[in-house]
Amino acid sequence: DSFDAMGLQENLLRGIYAYGFEKPSAIQQRGIVPFCKGLDVIQQAQSGTGKTATFCSGILQQLDYGTVECQALVLAPTRELAQQIEKVMRALGDYLGVKVHFCVGGTIVREDQRILSSGVHVVVGTPGRVFDMLRRQSLRPDYIKIFVLDEADEMLSRGFKDQIYDIFQLLPPKIQVGVFSATMPPEALEITRKFMNKPVRILV
Ligand code: AMP
Repeated sequence: DSFDAMGLQENLLRGIYAYGFEKPSAIQQRGIVPFCKGLDVIQQAQSGTGKTATFCSGILQQLDYGTVECQALVLAPTRELAQQIEKVMRALGDYLGVKVHFCVGGTIVREDQRILSSGVHVVVGTPGRVFDMLRRQSLRPDYIKIFVLDEADEMLSRGFKDQIYDIFQLLPPKIQVGVFSATMPPEALEITRKFMNKPVRILV
């Protein structure tokens, strides 16, 4: 049980160790490899289990750094959680040269548009502003191949269902989907049925 045995890129491993992680947590042990293979994954996990580094590693491993198109989108229920994810994504991806954009409401739309047009690999944000950026075509979905919903149950209970569905409609049809959720209420199960393809389920 080590990060070394997961087949991760050297520069991703350097980021993981530099961040201070020595051994994978249970969810990382079970979740990183299937995620890196491009499989759809449902991970039922509370915060505190190491879920953030699980999907950040899975995303960072699969990005094409030879281009600065947005290839992965991560949604979270609150700006605080989105900011935490952004921080982990940047830290773990430091040696890979990843460009991450934090995209939430309450900030200047033009500034968001300027950063997106300058080119990023990953967008981490909350549903409202991300949908707005997609709708305005400031965020182009064409190269997005990974979509992660973090704390999906919490997003649904905050009334983001319609926006999540709208975002799915704007993304390419065959993307990898990762759903992380402490609980699986009917609305969360509906998302997994509608938008996921033979998902791997991991319960921690
Ligand atoms: P999360 O569940 O992603 O919110 O992570 C919970 C906490 O565990 C965070 O403070 C992480 O920095 C920490 N953490 C996650 N993975 C590991 C690991 N493999 N080794 C040590 N700490 C970790």
